Amino acid sequence: MSITVVGSIAYDTVKTPFGERERMLGGAAVHFALAASFFEQVRVVGPVGDDFGETELEVLRQREVDVSDIERVPGGKTFFWRGEYGWDLNSRATLDTQLGVFEGFAPKLSSDSRSSDVLFLANIQPDLQREVRAQLPDARFVALDSMNLWIDIARDSLVQAIESVDCVILNDAELRQLTGKPNLFSAAREVLSWGPRVIVAKQGEYGAALVTAESFFSLPAFPLESVIDPTGAGDTFAGGFVGYIAQRLRSEELSDGLLRAAMANGTTLASFNVEEFGTERVVRLTEQEIVARVQELREITRFSGAPATG
Ligand code: AMP
Repeated sequence: MSITVVGSIAYDTVKTPFGERERMLGGAAVHFALAASFFEQVRVVGPVGDDFGETELEVLRQREVDVSDIERVPGGKTFFWRGEYGWDLNSRATLDTQLGVFEGFAPKLSSDSRSSDVLFLANIQPDLQREVRAQLPDARFVALDSMNLWIDIARDSLVQAIESVDCVILNDAELRQLTGKPNLFSAAREVLSWGPRVIVAKQGEYGAALVTAESFFSLPAFPLESVIDPTGAGDTFAGGFVGYIAQRLRSEELSDGLLRAAMANGTTLASFNVEEFGTERVVRLTEQEIVARVQELREITRFSGAPATG
């Protein structure tokens, strides 16, 4: 089941304790698309400027991502983000955000992009997320990500966007900020009451939790001894999670079991992403490596034995 994604296509300048990179390919839609491309056909919607290179587009094409709805804006500048991480890779400072071509962007989706059954509204201005959502009224599964910036400056529009989707994928801190509830489960329950059926709370190096009306599930992050750059981990998680769901929806309905397996795939994809800078690791990734690591994650999280009694 093909997937359409709208979100940032970016140049990122990133510094971590383990090195730095200038203007590498990034953006929420890019990280998502590369991860999801291991499961299904992905179509990316979003603008870039004159400065966006063919080499960068080729990275997406290599993974057979459909780039025909990436709009090149003459005279425009590609979205730019600069961030820095300290020893605690869970917290980062955003040093610069230049919206560039996203200012004044009106998404025009081709009939192919409108015909996808699965839609991911990656982190971008919530008005744009709603415009794209409205163009795929019959999608079977729609998921959304966002960030503190939009909760701060466009909360009403974001809440309306959330009301129109099946699944919300946010950091735990963002869920708390969005709802004003300090407890993660209460926060997730509140967002469930707005309309979505599925909430995923991303918890950085501690993993991710899944909350639905009927069930709760949680996975740790895959344990790695070397984490180099967490940029894009959240979007890569979303790509593995939504990509897996899109693939399974071909032959089954959305169920708790499917969502749990999707969590394992999201966790696995994200773990590869953080091993190197930007998209460097994921572009070399193979399906065999993904399958092997999902199996390892299953072993790591398995336990048996009856509860101890007195
Ligand atoms: P993540 O680490 O998963 O939160 O995503 C990082 C990616 O999000 C980077 O590649 C950035 O280009 C992109 N990004 C950062 N800030 C924004 C923003 N305000 N709007 C859209 N994308 C952003």
